[in-house]
Order: sequence, then C-alpha cells, then structure tokens
Amino acid sequence: MTQEAAIEVTGLKKLYRGSGKTAPVLALDSIDLTIPRGSIFGLLGPNGAGKSTFINILAGLVRKTAGSAEIWGFDLDKYPRNARNSIGVVPQELFIDPFFTPFETLEMQAGLYGVPKRARRSREILRMVQLEDKADAYSRTLSGGMKRRLLVAKAMVHSPPILILDEPTAGVDVELRQQLWENIRKLHAAGTTIVLTTHYLEEAENLCETIAIINHGQLVACEPTEVLLARIDEKEMIFDLAEPLDEVPAGLKGYNLHLERPDRMVIQVNRSTTTVGEILESVHQAGLTIRDLSTSETDLEDVFLQLTRPSSGEDQVPSDDQVDD
Ligand code: ADP
Repeated sequence: MTQEAAIEVTGLKKLYRGSGKTAPVLALDSIDLTIPRGSIFGLLGPNGAGKSTFINILAGLVRKTAGSAEIWGFDLDKYPRNARNSIGVVPQELFIDPFFTPFETLEMQAGLYGVPKRARRSREILRMVQLEDKADAYSRTLSGGMKRRLLVAKAMVHSPPILILDEPTAGVDVELRQQLWENIRKLHAAGTTIVLTTHYLEEAENLCETIAIINHGQLVACEPTEVLLARIDEKEMIFDLAEPLDEVPAGLKGYNLHLERPDRMVIQVNRSTTTVGEILESVHQAGLTIRDLSTSETDLEDVFLQLTRPSSGEDQVPSDDQVDD
C-alpha cells in the first residue's frame, strides 16, 4: 500500500560541533524514516538518543548537517515556511506567559502564524483540550496538567495536520498521564497525525501504532507496536531451588534457561508465546522444589542492547563473547 508520508527524512544527520572544551557530538547518524499520514507514531529512545534533535530539525529550530526532510510533502530546504506550517510542536518545557489567559495566549499565537481573525478557532481548540472553562482565567492559575494541555492547544492554532509532542508526560504523575494520553488519542481520532517522543516504553506501547527506536543517533527499529513488543516482550523468571542441580532437567530443555548457580535457575519467558502457568507446570513436572520465585521485566536499556546487537557491535564495548573482526 502506498500512503503519502506525513514526514519523510532521508540520510538525516546532525553533528553538533564541539567548542574548545566540548567534543563534537554526532546526534543523528543518517536517519531514514517515513511517518505515514494519519498515524500515531512514537519515537522512543533513552535520554541523549537524539529525539529532540530530530524534532527540532523538523521544527526549524536546529539546522541539519546533511540529509533531507519532507513535511507533508514540503521539502524543508525548498519550502521551509510551508514545511514548518505543517507541524505544531509541543515542547517539553512548561513555559506559558502567566499574565495572559489561555484564550489570549492562543489568539497571540494565531497572530504570530498570520492566521486571520475570522479563521481563528481559539475557543474550539480550548474545548478540544478540555480547557473551555479556563479560557479567561489567568494562565498562572492553571495546574501543571492544564498548562500542558494549553501548550498542545497553542501548537494547534494554525491547524497543522501534524502534531509533534516532545516527551508529553515527562515528570507527570500516573493519573495525569492517563488524561494526557486520552487527549492525544482524541486529537488523533479527529484526524491529526501525531508524532511523540518518549523514553517510556509503556507510553509508546499504550499510544502508538508504530514505534521507531532511536539510540545513539541511530534508528535501531521501526515496526508496528505489536510486532516490536512481541520481539521484546521478555521476562525473566528466577527460581531459587530447595536442592542444587548439576544440570538442567531433561523436561525443561525446551526453555531458554540457564543455571545462574546450582540452586538458582533462570528462565527467559516470551509472554506472547509461553504462559507463566505452563512454565510452573513444567518445573513441577520436573520434580523441582521451589524455595522462592521472582521475576524481572526487560527494561528499555536491555531492549536497545538487544536490538542494536545484531546490526553492528561498533558502538558497544565488546564483551567477552564478542570477537572483533
Ligand atoms: P534526546 O532528546 O533523545 O534526549 P537530544 O537530541 O537532546 O537527545 O541529544 C542528542 C545528543 O546531542 C546528546 O548527546 C546531547 O548531549 C547532544 N546535544 C543536544 N543538543 C546539543 C547542543 N545544542 N550542542 C551540543 N550537543 C548537543
């Protein structure tokens, strides 16, 4: 299926040149990425991966070193104005002028974008982000969550088809996070293409149809969420045994398992293919007595390592079992 792209970048590269004291940083290393129109797309990666750099290039705030970018069909170099008008960026920082009301804030922003008075939709946008009843309150009286929603509203005044949210829920409590997710889903349902960056796997998992993973400026994966999760949906079950073992019992050989110590057995479980119940049953069948059982989730760092490993080892410190070519 060919679908026109909302955002398409090719060979996108950013080198921050170091000053006398700081070394240069290759923040983006030849990224090729296509984000389809109408999608809700997550750019996931740990701090320092290059996510903000990517967004800031699209927003025209950071100058790329090489490569090309098209936003809603407009080349960033040839049609910078059209390209920039096609996106609304919701920044990470919660800065809002405290002396203006949400309504005034939106009107001013619309003025900055040259939206004529009759085409402005300030009240409608405030309704979309559930700030209708705060339209005329001073912005300094808004709660943290309301301020974030006002920033979303501000990014929408020029009706961009794409909304980019940079870490929309960083430092936000669980309840508020759910509300913000709900808001983002509504905007998406209303037809806006959503791109968000996050370092929370859970956030990307909950919201996004497609997830791209970026690490050390490189794109290490870009897949539909369920495909990606099936790959990384691993959990470790750690069994402390009543009696030490010399070797893995025959009945458990089918599992991805190792003995960490004679009395500690670790089984790698892929939750999409095996249930915990099956494993417990097999362990029981093998006649083992369990003294204690604990589990550990795969964390994001493990995921990045897992995904980066097969492509190349050049970025990593070689471990004992890695042989340099
Ligand atoms: P993320 O948003 O994923 O946390 P960033 O894009 O902010 O990552 O940063 C990517 C890398 O580029 C980091 O190593 C960061 O220190 C570096 N970096 C970001 N902005 C600048 C800058 N203005 N000058 C120099 N280095 C920068």
